[in-house]
Amino acid sequence: MTDLPVKDRFHLPEGVIYLDGNSLGVLPKGAARRAVEVIEGDWGQELIRAWNSRDWMDLPRRVGDRVGRLIGAPEGSVTMGDTLSVKVFQALSAALEMRPDRRVILSDAGNFPSDLYMADGLVRHLGRDHEVRTPAPEDVLGAIDDGVAVVMLTEVDYRTGRRHDVSAISRAAHDAGAVMIWDLAHSAGALPVDVVACRCEFAVGCTYKYLNGGPGAPAFIYVRPDLADSIDPVLQGWLGHAAPFEMARDYRPAPGVERMRVGTPPVIQLAVLDAALDAWEGVTLKALRAASVALSERFIAEVEARCPSLTLASPRAAEARGSQVSFAHPEGYAIMQALIARGVIGDFRAPDILRFGFTPLYLDEADVLRAAEVLEEIMATDAWQAPEYRVRGRVT
Ligand SMILES: *Cc1c(COP(=O)(O)O)cnc(C)c1O
Repeated sequence: MTDLPVKDRFHLPEGVIYLDGNSLGVLPKGAARRAVEVIEGDWGQELIRAWNSRDWMDLPRRVGDRVGRLIGAPEGSVTMGDTLSVKVFQALSAALEMRPDRRVILSDAGNFPSDLYMADGLVRHLGRDHEVRTPAPEDVLGAIDDGVAVVMLTEVDYRTGRRHDVSAISRAAHDAGAVMIWDLAHSAGALPVDVVACRCEFAVGCTYKYLNGGPGAPAFIYVRPDLADSIDPVLQGWLGHAAPFEMARDYRPAPGVERMRVGTPPVIQLAVLDAALDAWEGVTLKALRAASVALSERFIAEVEARCPSLTLASPRAAEARGSQVSFAHPEGYAIMQALIARGVIGDFRAPDILRFGFTPLYLDEADVLRAAEVLEEIMATDAWQAPEYRVRGRVT
């Protein structure tokens, strides 16, 4: 039995089996109390004095260090703020400035749309003939050559859970003289990550998925410490200035990763995230990964045995997957709605993918078995054919 003994650190609604922590993590028990303390105590009582008296200004660094421990980053190399899309833009724009003679941004066709949209928008506005190449994920390694300025990839594919080989790709990028950016949206808090070992220049990710920071929780950005002082930020916000309260006319970047801050930090969300990170107390990423693999393997075996019309859309080898399992079915949307109506919450990604996230902090084998049973019942009775399961919401 590899279940982790920390499920009681989370608030789980009665009757729900939550397999969507890869999209929005559940509410950790201390988070709501912390939010009230920050809102009523700090904001309500201290008002503007809290920037100093409660050290609000330093929250992005303090919380960044805690996130950093989960991705192998040294102290002072991670900062928090904005959304992941913005952090992707900052990393990519800085990376392109580091390779002014090269024109290719290499990503893959399975990358999350926002990452690719940000790249396309940046390229258009630079107007310097950059090109965003998106080969199939399995062809990325072979596409790295000395015309590539930046390799920008998401380690774990949001649709299929397929995982890139971080060390092999990082090495190939560096051998070709390219800058390496890893998007860890589906890695941070999901599996062991070591940004120091792969020597990537930048890593970014969000904190509302496996880190349970809540909807709208700020993103993180890591910059390799030996480079951070030479980065030339494009988003020159006042809080990335070396001395914001000098109110100087000209921008002067703050030392290190602090220059990747932009504007006022989201204090309430950062405080909630800080409380959410308490749930990791005493949990090693090695144990988390072992539990994640056990839960995923069990789910695949149960679903394949019980639901022959569903096709595994994730790699079969555990080491080639992140912490999610996807199945394909042409009626995937309706099937997922039927599951959700029965309290088993996963999600759907067009065109035909049913996604199930495995978050061992608050899921155990009994949950996984029960989810497979409910899915079997829906498939065996064709319950998904009910008309109400075909109505599409704005968010799928
Ligand atoms: C979830 C996710 C995003 C979302 O970006 P936001 O700006 O936080 O909405 C971006 N990229 C990847 C790879 C993701 O998985």
